[in-house]
Amino acid sequence: MARPAFAKIDLAALRHNYERLRTLHGGRALAVLKANAYGHGAVRCAHALTDIADGFAVAFLEEAVALREAGINAPILVLEGMFDAHDLQVAQELELWIVVHHEAQLRMIELSACTTPLHVWLKLNTGMERAGFAPEDAAAVHSRLVSTGKIEQIILMSHFARADEPDSEATAAQIERFDNATAGIAGDRSLCNSAGVLAWPDARLDWARPGIALYGADPIPSGEHGLLPVMTLESRVFAVRDLQAGEALGYGARFIASRPTRVGLVAMGYADGYPRTAPEGTAVMVDGQVSGIIGRVSMDMLTVDITDHPSTGIGSRLELWGPRIRVNDVAHASGTIAYELLCNVKRVPLQYSQEPLVHTPKLESAAA
Ligand SMILES: *Cc1c(COP(=O)(O)O)cnc(C)c1O
Repeated sequence: MARPAFAKIDLAALRHNYERLRTLHGGRALAVLKANAYGHGAVRCAHALTDIADGFAVAFLEEAVALREAGINAPILVLEGMFDAHDLQVAQELELWIVVHHEAQLRMIELSACTTPLHVWLKLNTGMERAGFAPEDAAAVHSRLVSTGKIEQIILMSHFARADEPDSEATAAQIERFDNATAGIAGDRSLCNSAGVLAWPDARLDWARPGIALYGADPIPSGEHGLLPVMTLESRVFAVRDLQAGEALGYGARFIASRPTRVGLVAMGYADGYPRTAPEGTAVMVDGQVSGIIGRVSMDMLTVDITDHPSTGIGSRLELWGPRIRVNDVAHASGTIAYELLCNVKRVPLQYSQEPLVHTPKLESAAA
């Protein structure tokens, strides 16, 4: 029998989330598929969205090339833009949209012998303090681009540093800086990542760029926005072990039984992307009941306490995260964020379904 560990991907939930986010934002939305669609499989996700999405975004050129090779003809924006002149040539050939965020990239365009007109997203640094032109240079950079004669369209964009903190003033300041810097410049505008779409109505402009929320992980801590989890990380109990009080379990003997304890051994480890830092008590769902991890997560397996679940045994099904165990909660307990957990999913086969896997009544009413 094959190892019973899977990441099930609910493509109907992905479509639901895309439409919900685009409706909330208004205008158009690029579905962000970088990092293999946050671990969900970029090609399959692109195909699942292709009839409804306005376009896609990836981090770098090779990701875009892979989508084109898989037959995705929709617009694809390359968020980091090009690294050298060759990238620019490939982007042109494949009709990719490119972000231009620093002087060297601008020079590449000026010096290139390109023939087909480029579709450029001009990125301004309004407070992320990472990539982007200074807001005060926006007009000058814009007219340099225009004067190359190689540009078909310029979309003005910026990226938020703290949009997931609804109480922070930083995002309002970024919106204001963006508005001031781009006043009087023609063209579409784009500010919102997922948290922007969900929490910052003033930032909803022509184009949204949602990533994490597409996959159903709400970036706002208290969020209840009717998003459906797309991935269910699943496995089964493959052995049961009884510990006497005082006996230790697993690496580092991190868990010592304080009472007679039934332990379920589960085929899922950090080599699959389940975080090794998950502490004792991190929730899992076993046969529909909440239980907790005990002992250290190891490379290929982890252990759960099934003492209070007498009907649980070999073959019992586990949800590590999904509709019932929120990936945000596992991430929080493990000292990281859902983005990292989802991106890290590997080795387990991805299984796709078009039909919703599970819809809890709560989520359905929130989505209505
Ligand atoms: C990754 C990324 C996004 C999507 O961010 P989420 O927080 O996942 O919604 C949007 N815009 C840019 C520029 C990005 O790099």
